[in-house]
Amino acid sequence: MDSPDVGELTPPNRTLMGPGPSDVHPRVLRAMTTPLVGHLDPSFLDIMDEVQELLRYTFRTDNTWTIPVSGTGSASMEAAYGNLVEPGDTVLVPTNGYFGGRKAEMAERAGGDVVTVDAPWGEPLRPEDVAAAFDEHQPDVFGFVHAETSTGALQPDVPELTAIAHEHDAYVIADVVTSLGGVELRVDEWDIDVAYSAAQKCLSAPPGASPLTLNDRAMNKILDRDQSPRSWYLDLSLLEGYWGDDRSYHHTAPITSVYALREALRLVAEEGIENRWERHRETAGAIKAGVEGMGLELNPEDDYWLPSLNAVRVPAGVTDGEVIDYLLSEYDIEIAGGLGDLSGDIFRIGCMGHSCRPDNVAFLMTAFADALETLGADVDADAGIAAMRDVL
Ligand SMILES: *Cc1c(COP(=O)(O)O)cnc(C)c1O
Repeated sequence: MDSPDVGELTPPNRTLMGPGPSDVHPRVLRAMTTPLVGHLDPSFLDIMDEVQELLRYTFRTDNTWTIPVSGTGSASMEAAYGNLVEPGDTVLVPTNGYFGGRKAEMAERAGGDVVTVDAPWGEPLRPEDVAAAFDEHQPDVFGFVHAETSTGALQPDVPELTAIAHEHDAYVIADVVTSLGGVELRVDEWDIDVAYSAAQKCLSAPPGASPLTLNDRAMNKILDRDQSPRSWYLDLSLLEGYWGDDRSYHHTAPITSVYALREALRLVAEEGIENRWERHRETAGAIKAGVEGMGLELNPEDDYWLPSLNAVRVPAGVTDGEVIDYLLSEYDIEIAGGLGDLSGDIFRIGCMGHSCRPDNVAFLMTAFADALETLGADVDADAGIAAMRDVL
């Protein structure tokens, strides 16, 4: 049999302004070429400690139980649901975006009974609706999405939501995949029991090692389980052996992904987490001003605008797909369209981590204006560029 004919690996050089992954910082790319050591090597144990400390800083938490889960954000999400939810638990999940549906699926597979709290796609949950759902269903676990990447809506009032859950002795799992490292998030101050994230959104590391943090209250529920979780790989009581004090083998850590995450988190610490939140607000603010200046609308109301994911309504005269294709083929820029209830209605323009820079925004807005004009939308490109420049 002839050997397969394979060439050099040369993917196109894109600018990533979609819902993730985001552009990876050159320092993170360099860290990925660091030679491997064993996952139990004393030097790697020090790196594990550093990553945990940097994750605590980024999550704004003192939780001992703060680790990178092997796998993408969904692995971290499944670790949260698969461990905290026990068979027979009632789990309250939202229906206002794509990722609420995934939570329902994971909670069900963990043996939970799923109930929902509703809001339209593109709007956050209202605390009064969450309170009503608690009175009606008395859930044991409540999951919500802080930054809904499918709709571009930020969930405000997080401390209010966690207070409602705790008055009912329930546990709160927050999806902070598109907020960690980009949008204000305070795990301890906001009284979040479990939060999970991913590397490739506002942290701008490649997907592969995904942040997870749990407070003692949540970890105690997990350690007291009658039955083991259904996943062996993601069983936190076993992972404790590796990330906890014992440092014993469970599975081989994705060493290169941990190097990458460490460097990405070092960049967060060097910048300062609050400065980083501010940078995302300011830089993405130029996208917001630019599209509004052109005569387009953002889908969410200003009170729950999500800087890391700007949902822009598709104007008359063009389809989302042709604009997305134009940006990719003419400019090598990636943005995305809507999902689910918002399919065909919005563009999703990310502004995350290392992608969230003035030069990227200027490039994107110039290209976006060209695409819309060329394809026949009625927009005022010059006014949009001027509004963007004012902010930048
Ligand atoms: C991207 C994303 C996930 C899933 O992460 P993967 O890395 O794709 O597995 C979960 N929740 C939200 C809000 C996301 O944006």
